[in-house]
Amino acid sequence: MTTTQTLFSRIPATSRLLCEAPFQPLIETFGHTRVVAILHELQDEARAQISRDGTLPDWCDNWSDEAQDRLSTRNRSTLRPVLNLTGTVLHTNLGRALQAESAIKAVSEVMGSPVTLEYSLDTAERGHRDQTVATLLCELTGAEAACIVNNNAAAVLLMLAACSEGKEVVVSRGELVEIGGAFRIPDVMRQAGCQLIEVGTTNRTHLADYRNVLGENTALLMKVHTSNYHIEGFTQSVSEAELVALANQHSLPVITDLGSGSLVDLTQWGLPPEPMPQQLIADGVSLVSFSGDKLLGGPQAGIIVGKKTYIDRLQQHPLKRALRADKMTLAALEATLRLYQHPETLAERLPALRLLTRSAEDISVQAARLQPLFARYFDVDFIVSAEPCLSQIGSGSLPVGKLPSAALTFQPRDGRGSTLVALSKTLRELEHPVIGRITDGRLWLDLRCLEHDALLLKVLAP
Ligand SMILES: *Cc1c(COP(=O)(O)O)cnc(C)c1O
Repeated sequence: MTTTQTLFSRIPATSRLLCEAPFQPLIETFGHTRVVAILHELQDEARAQISRDGTLPDWCDNWSDEAQDRLSTRNRSTLRPVLNLTGTVLHTNLGRALQAESAIKAVSEVMGSPVTLEYSLDTAERGHRDQTVATLLCELTGAEAACIVNNNAAAVLLMLAACSEGKEVVVSRGELVEIGGAFRIPDVMRQAGCQLIEVGTTNRTHLADYRNVLGENTALLMKVHTSNYHIEGFTQSVSEAELVALANQHSLPVITDLGSGSLVDLTQWGLPPEPMPQQLIADGVSLVSFSGDKLLGGPQAGIIVGKKTYIDRLQQHPLKRALRADKMTLAALEATLRLYQHPETLAERLPALRLLTRSAEDISVQAARLQPLFARYFDVDFIVSAEPCLSQIGSGSLPVGKLPSAALTFQPRDGRGSTLVALSKTLRELEHPVIGRITDGRLWLDLRCLEHDALLLKVLAP
């Protein structure tokens, strides 16, 4: 009979285990401290199970394997590379834009070396961290000056805080948007300490609506690009150019939160049109803000371009210090913007644009090529087909525009939703997880973002 006492005596001492051969590579890889900590955890678990059930855990046959399993699992980053086959190219939850080769290289260079972030080699004096990127942005947009912060939400906060001075900001009711993740224009206004004056209605706002509320307390007029939804039908809004004409009569600034924005005309590739910052600058808008990692295809950043007097105010505001971008962001952004100086090769070198401009024919040829391989492998449980589908741009850009694409679809032979959910889980648990989407009783793997078949073929031979 095994008594509890003899079971306890079968829990090896830490010092004995640490001397065993299989533990040497573990100590090498994970370090002495962590190996000791995991052994203490295992010993505690074993004791608890003996007291509770009078048995030893199964893994007590092999302590080193169990320790190795747990240490490897915990050492794995939770920021894992995945295959985005959701059909949404700029997927916020999957990290938005993939960076260009040149941006990746630029970031790795500045990571390991001191750099001239705020240092002028000409004068050996202090330089400005936004300078290089600002020069490029001015060249590309025609603006007088620019300011870089951590993301576009920060850009909106800074513009409002620095330019409203606690006074009134006039916005159309049709533009009081929620971007998602607790970013609502009225809330940001409160945070920035300004007073929101709503004008017009959800579907129609006229120039007179703005004119009627202007007074000595008005700080500025604001436009927000309704990037993640679209109002159709009986609608009316006031363009930036009209608003600027009105604001100029009262010596007030106009600011625009453009959301995504695009520095190039997307219609040249058959993509839906997206407003361009350079157009708004030409219209006389004082400040325009947009994201670095949406259609621009760069790192997470908030970009503000506009008139020098207002940009100077942003640069001098204490919030700018709190929201400033770091050297890695600035390096990636500079490299990304340099690609725009060579528009002829942009669609090839900028991954976001390269994926968005892949032709439906190209993707459907790819789907037809992969279908038989997957059909053979999954045949028992699923009908695998190559089907046309529609990709989305994502990140609130171009909400109406969908891009014709092609997918591999998996339809469970037993017709059960649970079979689909299980397949989707299996794909997520791969070494290189594959993320698809479930609709219409099938799992869809949209191939738009799969530039190399080999990455997906690993599913068949993991
Ligand atoms: C996306 C978006 C934002 C937020 O930009 P982030 O870069 O995600 O912070 C703000 N306003 C509009 C209109 C947007 O589309």
